[in-house]
Amino acid sequence: MTEETRKRPATRAMDLSGVRVDPPGAVRTMEGIRNTVYSPGATDPNTLYFVEVDPAVCQGCGECSHHCPTGAIQETGDGTRHIVDPSVCMNCGQCLTHCPYGAVTERVSYVSEVLEKLKDPDTVVVSMTAPAVRYALGECFGMPTGTWVGGKVHAVLRRLGFDYIWDNEWTADVTIMEEGTELLERVKNGGKGDKPLPQFTSCCPGWIKFCETFYPDLIPHLSTCKSPVAMLGPLAKTYGAQQTGTDPKKVYTVSIMPCIAKKYEGLRPEMADSGRRDIDATINTRELAYIIKKAGISFASLPDEEADPILGMATGAATLFGTSGGVMEAALRFAYEAISGKTLADPSIKAVRTGKGINKVSVDVPGFGPVRVAVVSGLQEAARVCEEVRAGTSDLHFIEVMTCPGGCVNGGGQPVDDSIMEASLFKKMMATVNKRFNMRQVG
Ligand code: SF4
Ligand code: SF4
Repeated sequence: MTEETRKRPATRAMDLSGVRVDPPGAVRTMEGIRNTVYSPGATDPNTLYFVEVDPAVCQGCGECSHHCPTGAIQETGDGTRHIVDPSVCMNCGQCLTHCPYGAVTERVSYVSEVLEKLKDPDTVVVSMTAPAVRYALGECFGMPTGTWVGGKVHAVLRRLGFDYIWDNEWTADVTIMEEGTELLERVKNGGKGDKPLPQFTSCCPGWIKFCETFYPDLIPHLSTCKSPVAMLGPLAKTYGAQQTGTDPKKVYTVSIMPCIAKKYEGLRPEMADSGRRDIDATINTRELAYIIKKAGISFASLPDEEADPILGMATGAATLFGTSGGVMEAALRFAYEAISGKTLADPSIKAVRTGKGINKVSVDVPGFGPVRVAVVSGLQEAARVCEEVRAGTSDLHFIEVMTCPGGCVNGGGQPVDDSIMEASLFKKMMATVNKRFNMRQVG
């Protein structure tokens, strides 16, 4: 495929000239969440606030602190909350999705920059969509929670003018093979040397920051694999550009995520293996819904379409990345067959899927014996497992950690559940009373 043959078919792409591009610093509400237009350049992401509490809206109910896994949110003198330091915030956005007042706002948004690039005929815009987005985007268009809209996501990205609809599921498959192979090596070596056991998964940026910040001694336990999108970015700018006859300098990669922490990940200085920034922009499910609505596209009536060749194909295993236990299940399937040389009669290892907490499972692999694994959902639970590994009392081989309870389907960039706002009238009343009480305290 050459650049001439693939360039934005005029009949397919929408005319975005009428869609407003807000200036840096503008605040706009996207799917109920306020967001500041800001596309950080080469900045240390550890210094950035990706979320922040608006003191003018905060009623001091404490729901955000309750859901914060690290204690990054603290009370101020009047009872309202704020994030004390970005270095201890894992950017998970659980405070944001659980605030009944919409007081937690996003502080980094690439939406304007992405719109500008889509309008620019000299930029080749590539989409890289995560599995969990396609189970949530439909909610923003009136569909029941959990409706799969993967085919419509491909169709809408094409109509918005993305030049290549590539897909994170492609590199999720790569991750499974790489992570499974690494696990095999560690198991065969008995966890000796610089590749100790247990091996932790490495695809969740909230978990990686948590490990680096609070358990740096456990970094050798992290899989050396990058996350799927951190693999797809450089592949798009090297292999993908080469295969499509595109000048890599013109390629602009857009990571589309259920997540806020992925904005942090995209800015990490080491994400530059292609010789330039591997991930140019990261937007989340809410922001994609906003763009679709602004472009006036009737999402629900779109047909199902496929992703584009080269970096858009995937197996069914990749979809599992969207839920807690999914990475583990996919890697276990691979490791089982690689160790035993046998095909799993039932490839669905549902025992490792979990909604919350810690789920430990032992899988008997012919020719090896039991492979002991754990799936951890939420960073408070992760801390308990880390303490065991640090103390040398863990007998596990492989541990999956996802920051958001239930996994990426409940990520901080997903549509906010209306019931959180609706079910909390009593809480709201109590919070208002508490705030007034706090403000009246003397001395
Ligand atoms: S984004 Fe996550 S870690 Fe940061 S303040 Fe909110 S809940 Fe806490
Ligand atoms: S669990 Fe998924 S959505 Fe949540 S921080 Fe990790 S990668 Fe992002």
